[in-house]
Amino acid sequence: MSIEVKNISKRFGQFVALDQVSLAFASGELTALLGPSGCGKTTLLRIIAGLEAQDSGQVLLAGEDASARHVRERQVGFVFQHYALFKHMTVFENIAFGLRVKPRSQRPSESAIREKVRSLLDLVQLDWLADHYPPQLSGGQRQRIALARALAVEPRVLLLDEPFGALDAKVRKELRRWLRRLHDELQVTSIFVTHDQEEALEVADRIVLMNQGKVEQVGAPQQVYEHPASPFVYGFLGNVNLFHGRVHRGVLEAGGVAFDAPNHAAAQDAAGIGYVRPHDLEVERYAAGADGIVVQLKRAHAIGPLAQLELERNDDAGLIEAVISSERFGQLNLKDGETLVVRPRRLQVFVE
Ligand code: ATP
Repeated sequence: MSIEVKNISKRFGQFVALDQVSLAFASGELTALLGPSGCGKTTLLRIIAGLEAQDSGQVLLAGEDASARHVRERQVGFVFQHYALFKHMTVFENIAFGLRVKPRSQRPSESAIREKVRSLLDLVQLDWLADHYPPQLSGGQRQRIALARALAVEPRVLLLDEPFGALDAKVRKELRRWLRRLHDELQVTSIFVTHDQEEALEVADRIVLMNQGKVEQVGAPQQVYEHPASPFVYGFLGNVNLFHGRVHRGVLEAGGVAFDAPNHAAAQDAAGIGYVRPHDLEVERYAAGADGIVVQLKRAHAIGPLAQLELERNDDAGLIEAVISSERFGQLNLKDGETLVVRPRRLQVFVE
């Protein structure tokens, strides 16, 4: 089922939680709502679900205005960060719950319920836990059961609010891959809220980046990562070095070095900042007349395939972080305190 939100605004007292948010979610798509704490992700999810009412704007489910529809009628499945499984019920009964409480006319027969629960337990690969109680499960197992329970009623939309937020890093990683595979199998339109960029970039078909109640950018993971639409998105989606300077007719002058800024051909001596990811910096040993920013190697940290270099600028403009392959690091044979030159392979300039 497709979902559309149109000009949704929501205030809590004087505080604007959502400001004219418009988005469309295609049927069968897995979208991540990504943004810092308090940016309005959960509020938007709750409005789509019908758990919260917007002040203005519309939610359309499969093209139909959902405002008249109660939560129960929206056929939405939820999974939240804090596993809300019923502690006194077995795993089996937790999953069966949504089916058992259906009105008699819609309730499946006992044998159909059993079959459904068994197939969901297979799907989440936890059939051997059917008779256990939630306190006997690990966090990751509880989240998988919570997902099975949400899926039992065959929702048309699945909404997940930081579903793996409370789990340790390794389990999170496993579960997000598993969620992706499950989604590919079921193709239920799904929206999940996260503040973890890595999780969003790895799992989602599309990412909606939010900041202070507004949508900053929408796009495929690679698109938003490679072409951030704003300084906020640049900073939020990974480490970035900033080079402050002046932009004049398509050139950024920063720290005595000129960088191409073709998007700003019309700029006339405007304040601008060049954004460069650590892995987009070329690093070389200093030689007289070398073209680039002169730095001192403060500290290198090489574990695994990548080496992280902490570099201090000669002009006191702060630290630069560069990431190069450990192989290249080995070839260069760099020592702490050595003078180096860095040059961006790729940079994006935003004029202030
Ligand atoms: P997080 O990642 O921390 O959960 P979020 O992006 O999901 O953040 P929301 O939960 O949507 O953020 O909250 C957005 C803002 O609205 C926050 O500043 C929050 O304090 C405020 N807010 C949310 N619900 C209420 C409420 N019921 N009453 C008052 N303020 C609220």
